[in-house]
Amino acid sequence: MDRGTGTVTIVGAGIVGVSAALALLNAGRPVRLIDRVPPGEGCSFGNAAVITEGSVEPLALPGVMSQVPAWLLDPEGPLVVRWGHLPRALPFFWRFLKAAGPARVRAVAAAQAALLRGSVAAHRGLAEAAGVGEMIRPGGFLYVYHGQRGLAADRGIWALRRAQGVRVEALEGPRLAELEPGLGSVFGQGLWMPDDAWVISPAGLVRGLAAEVRRRGGRIECAEVLGLEPGPEAPRRLFTSIGDIPVETLLIAAGAHSGRLAALLGERFPLESERGYHLQVPPQAVSGRTLVSRPVMWAERRMVATPVAGGLRLAGTAEFAGLSAPPDFARAARFLEWGRTLLPGLPGGLDGEASRWMGHRPTLPDTLPVIGRSSRWRRVFYAFGHGHTGLTAGPLTGRLIAAQIAGHRPPIDPAPYAPGRFTGQS
Ligand SMILES: Cc1cc2nc3c(=O)[nH]c(=O)nc-3n(C[C@H](O)[C@H](O)[C@H](O)COP(=O)(O)OP(=O)(O)OC[C@H]3O[C@@H](n4cnc5c(N)ncnc54)[C@H](O)[C@@H]3O)c2cc1C
Repeated sequence: MDRGTGTVTIVGAGIVGVSAALALLNAGRPVRLIDRVPPGEGCSFGNAAVITEGSVEPLALPGVMSQVPAWLLDPEGPLVVRWGHLPRALPFFWRFLKAAGPARVRAVAAAQAALLRGSVAAHRGLAEAAGVGEMIRPGGFLYVYHGQRGLAADRGIWALRRAQGVRVEALEGPRLAELEPGLGSVFGQGLWMPDDAWVISPAGLVRGLAAEVRRRGGRIECAEVLGLEPGPEAPRRLFTSIGDIPVETLLIAAGAHSGRLAALLGERFPLESERGYHLQVPPQAVSGRTLVSRPVMWAERRMVATPVAGGLRLAGTAEFAGLSAPPDFARAARFLEWGRTLLPGLPGGLDGEASRWMGHRPTLPDTLPVIGRSSRWRRVFYAFGHGHTGLTAGPLTGRLIAAQIAGHRPPIDPAPYAPGRFTGQS
């Protein structure tokens, strides 16, 4: 255990970094957050905004894997691999395939459930304490299907969710229309997780939490970490764009960029950027109407429509192309067309009015994040790799890593998230 009392330097002010900072302040540790952009401008900015305790399934699932070849061949499919990036992503995909075995799938679902359970309440607690409680909205997360094939392919996902105690309600015809009257009539089947919630501005939430970090005495520096000088138990200092910053205890919470920082410390993780997109239509473009009253996933397209403060957000896609390739906004442009099928009240001709965004989901091949102490450095800790559920898991990840840093009893068993599963030590 660290058991120190000194400052914890956190690289990354996304939902994970700011949540960790608040949990460390609660544990009596001073914090310094470093980010090259203002808090909440990384992947935490543009996600689909769903706080989903129900999304416990691993990415590598037999039913899902059987759809992968068709998705890859379909230019409109939800999964894209830029072939030039494949050689670099091979260690990821190799481990990804190995994670699809039935025993591993059950173990991952249980570990995901343990980390996500209680996230809605944890978000509400953090947001209320920071004075931004109105950002968290109840109402659940609804999946809709336009055909039996998609529903059959996802059967394994729903079975895993139910097995982990997630409340799921099946809705058809009039009951579905009653819940979401704006849905297109082709969507005959719905599965609703009523206990999930959403955030009306994920970036606004992180900004609000960062303001609370400052109010409670934490420091936030806008700087890029470029390198470091190793010390006996942690780097002695970080070399940054604003000069050297001394370090006592270091927490790397830099999302998809964490792999590069860990490599500076001699530790390698098969972390990939699973790039996703959103397209957001401002409220005036839909004449101020609310087309949907909670996040709705068109399951066959893996596209989510969420009512956010800035209008209607359409988000999705998993694109493997690395951290530096330019975005392919043609993908996001299709969301408008799909959005009109999902919600026929969405007017046409909005291309010029919609904003576009691409972000890097930090994804590890077994779906679970890395949360814990470095295998090599006593005063270096990691919290990254939350993939599709990082917004949800931020607050509870913060509590888990803060407990480990402060030497307190962890709120859940930390073993499934240990960095050593990739670095070969415990
Ligand atoms: C399209 C899409 C939809 C999604 N939908 C959902 C959803 O509905 N629900 C959900 O739970 N999750 C969702 N996610 C996933 C979620 O957004 C991420 O898992 C989460 O935001 C990761 O948070 P983070 O704090 O780890 O990373 P980030 O928010 O990316 O923060 C990391 C920070 O580190 C900083 N950084 C990196 N390197 C350096 C450096 N060298 N020096 C200084 N700073 C550095 C970056 O600038 C960044 O601000 C979605 C993601 C995408 C792309």
